[in-house]
Amino acid sequence: MARTPPSPPEPPPLPAEARRLGVYVHYPYCSARCPYCDFTVTTRALDDDRYRDAVIAELRARARDFTERPPAVSVYFGGGTPGLWDPAALGAVIDAVADTVGLAADAEITVEANPGEVTAAHALGWRAAGVNRISLGVQSFADQHLAFLGRAHRAADVHAAIAALRRVGLGEISVDLIHGMAGQTVAEAVGDAAAALATGAPHVSTYQLTIEARTRFGLWARRGQTLLAEDGLLAEMYAAVQATLEAGGVRFYEISNAARPGHEAVHNGLYWSFAEYLGLGAGAHGFRRGRGGGARWANGKHPQRYMEGALAGRLLQEVEAVDAATLAEERVLTGLRRWAGLPVDADLRVRFGGGAAAAVARGWLTDDGDRWRATPAGRAVLDRVVLEVVAAR
Ligand code: SF4
Repeated sequence: MARTPPSPPEPPPLPAEARRLGVYVHYPYCSARCPYCDFTVTTRALDDDRYRDAVIAELRARARDFTERPPAVSVYFGGGTPGLWDPAALGAVIDAVADTVGLAADAEITVEANPGEVTAAHALGWRAAGVNRISLGVQSFADQHLAFLGRAHRAADVHAAIAALRRVGLGEISVDLIHGMAGQTVAEAVGDAAAALATGAPHVSTYQLTIEARTRFGLWARRGQTLLAEDGLLAEMYAAVQATLEAGGVRFYEISNAARPGHEAVHNGLYWSFAEYLGLGAGAHGFRRGRGGGARWANGKHPQRYMEGALAGRLLQEVEAVDAATLAEERVLTGLRRWAGLPVDADLRVRFGGGAAAAVARGWLTDDGDRWRATPAGRAVLDRVVLEVVAAR
């Protein structure tokens, strides 16, 4: 007699923070391409209204897969430079999110913008559209380093942009900084952190400059140009920037992100907790959960082809199934970057409990029973810690 195959085990219940929904909207236009940037960006003019219509068409098509979810807690306009998108178009997208998947009353709605491109009219338009947070691509307050990074703005533009935002009541500002440029000293990196503090912005993201192969910096590096500070100096810069921000009350809550208490980004937390992500626009990525795992999609990057497809009801995308094992590994990877640590359920303990115990023995992790947290020593070698936890199962 044929045996009935055993049913697969029930997937573990999701932690509460993963049962949330975010919306990401990619706006691929920038006025110029920075030499270190490998994002999906075009410098060719984009028809703002047509792009709006395409994004809304894609949203309506995808929303059918996101029924029976709680309303979105975050809408994030990234790019590119969505700060250059007509604020009315952006507002129409926000309204369409509310109409389809729903929008929580206190949802975080963020727009990335560049200093030097923030106008009073845009600031007012964002406010009217319901935007309540601006992520400002400051990168440095030192004009010589801004020039090195190929940025169009200068330090004075940063202060003017922040003043314009505050005048319309947009005080929830995140300042993005980059450190590790060749020629930058530790004191200069600290100076940038101190200048960021002095703006009063409640959130700071700080990234080390990385050289991506398919960029102008990548080309120049292959030709032998030195673009990065020395390795030892990079670690010193990061530690000094961290100490400066912390001393000023802007506390790190993840390897690259710091905030005054209560101003941590909702958007970032969704990524790190593997909540579902409705990604829209050319080059956008999204994630939908399924039984035990989920699926990721990546939209085609070409803006014109994206618009043609979305407006004709065709989604140009690549879809990749993500199984439970991969998802669990990725949870370790992102969870250990967070100061709050990784919520540990029975599934993670079965998969990686051995590796975690070894990392605890080395002083790299703490195990509070329901969370694994990287210690300061562990954070300094985080890639190694993650590999050992994941590989030792
Ligand atoms: S402004 Fe930002 S997205 Fe645009 S090219 Fe520069 S780094 Fe890339």
